[in-house]
Amino acid sequence: MTIGWHFDNTYSKLSDIFREEIKPIPVINPELVILNESLASELSLDFSKIDKKELSKIFSGNSLPSGSSSIAQAYAGHQFGHFTMLGDGRAVLIGEHTTKSNKKFDIQFKGSGKTAFSRNGDGRAALGPMLREYIISEAMNALGIPTTRSLAVVKTGENIQREKTLQGAVLTRIASSHIRVGTFQYIAARQKEDELKTLLDYTIDRHYPEIKNSNNQALDLLNLLIERQCNLVVNWMRVGFIHGVMNTDNMTISGETIDYGPCAFMDFYDPKTVFSSIDQTGRYAYCNQPVITKWNLARFAECLIPFIDKDQDKAVKIATETINSFEKKYEEKWMNMMRDKLGLFGLDDKDKFLILDLLTWMHEKKADYTNTFCYLMNLNPKDDGLFDDNNFKNWKKRWEERMLKNNNTPKKCIELMRKNNPLVIPRNHKVEQALMAAEKNDLNPIIELIDVLKNPYTQKNNIFDYQIPSNSDEKYQTFCGT
Ligand code: AMP
Ligand code: MG
Repeated sequence: MTIGWHFDNTYSKLSDIFREEIKPIPVINPELVILNESLASELSLDFSKIDKKELSKIFSGNSLPSGSSSIAQAYAGHQFGHFTMLGDGRAVLIGEHTTKSNKKFDIQFKGSGKTAFSRNGDGRAALGPMLREYIISEAMNALGIPTTRSLAVVKTGENIQREKTLQGAVLTRIASSHIRVGTFQYIAARQKEDELKTLLDYTIDRHYPEIKNSNNQALDLLNLLIERQCNLVVNWMRVGFIHGVMNTDNMTISGETIDYGPCAFMDFYDPKTVFSSIDQTGRYAYCNQPVITKWNLARFAECLIPFIDKDQDKAVKIATETINSFEKKYEEKWMNMMRDKLGLFGLDDKDKFLILDLLTWMHEKKADYTNTFCYLMNLNPKDDGLFDDNNFKNWKKRWEERMLKNNNTPKKCIELMRKNNPLVIPRNHKVEQALMAAEKNDLNPIIELIDVLKNPYTQKNNIFDYQIPSNSDEKYQTFCGT
């Protein structure tokens, strides 16, 4: 009965300041809800010979694999702009597993009970939000967007008290690491410069070994993270993803999307879209995501000041200039991403107007973001007359003229579009339907939804129902997964 775990617990070997040694708190009656077999095989893990009862014990944390050394990690965070000392308040990292191809992944249980960082929380998670994280993170992965992954969800057999009584659950989250901007902030706030250097070295070793021997590692790391986070947010904008809670504790140093709390995908195009019930000011609205990414990166830069230059003023100047390079980078990457969505090769002076005019039209007409690009690829799921509009037709003529400038065939343009425009996204009402059914033990809708979301760029017969936005006028609201 070998599953294939190969644990190496490097983070737990760092000094006490980084973590608390703790085991998951056992749960009463664990029951496996879902197991991601294809991810297991990507991780060189084989659960096929383990019965469901044993799997339930494993993925609830009731039975820890040998070789694991479990910890809760310390971190801080700017939550909606306010600095707080945090940490894994309801999660336990059971270790770093190395795959056959020598890749290292954190294996973490979320909802695993109280830790030293729980503050007033109960350390637990509810079934709905954990399944929601499973669905959306796997959808993001299939969309080709860096993300943490979801290996399993187990019901705990315990009730948890929120506004209502809910079923408890544990999610097994896989990440290339859980080091966050907030991890650096935590150590910096404790004013432990030697430990901060330990974290810097550890991070470079784990994620950016290419700068191990560079002259200014801290500055190089900052530049690399700017690049990765810039790419990430451009990807979010591409598919209409709104993270919802871009606090600095929810931004990884690996560049993976993390913490699927109040996130959701935009249906009709409105740059100010916010789904989270607690985001009253729209701090994390769709259009604000790049601005906040830069803001978070500036908080990261602040932690690195002592290592950028011995002369503090000089270090601040360099860090500021580096952070200010973000806008130009973002603008360039965003333009290229939009060109890809429109099948445009090369550059043209008027590209920006062409792109912005389409977005303005979509905003005015409340056009569905995903399906507008489907229409342009001749794959519109439903003709509701929206595109008969004269303004749109005029825009489309300009777009077609621009495509001719490519020196490329229409076939190649469409191929480019097909790689960049998903046909299916996790539509909010479909996600809700699947979660409601799962609460009542009917797993068919969630299994079908996850299956459809596995191939978002492929036209298939069974996807129509998943392409149509909800016809309800009610504003969709999301809540933090606490
Ligand atoms: P999040 O909003 O999920 O990013 O969580 C922010 C902080 O609150 C993190 O430190 C979490 O560990 C903590 N937290 C969230 N929910 C709970 C809970 N139910 N019990 C204890 N800590 C929690
Ligand atoms: Mg978080």
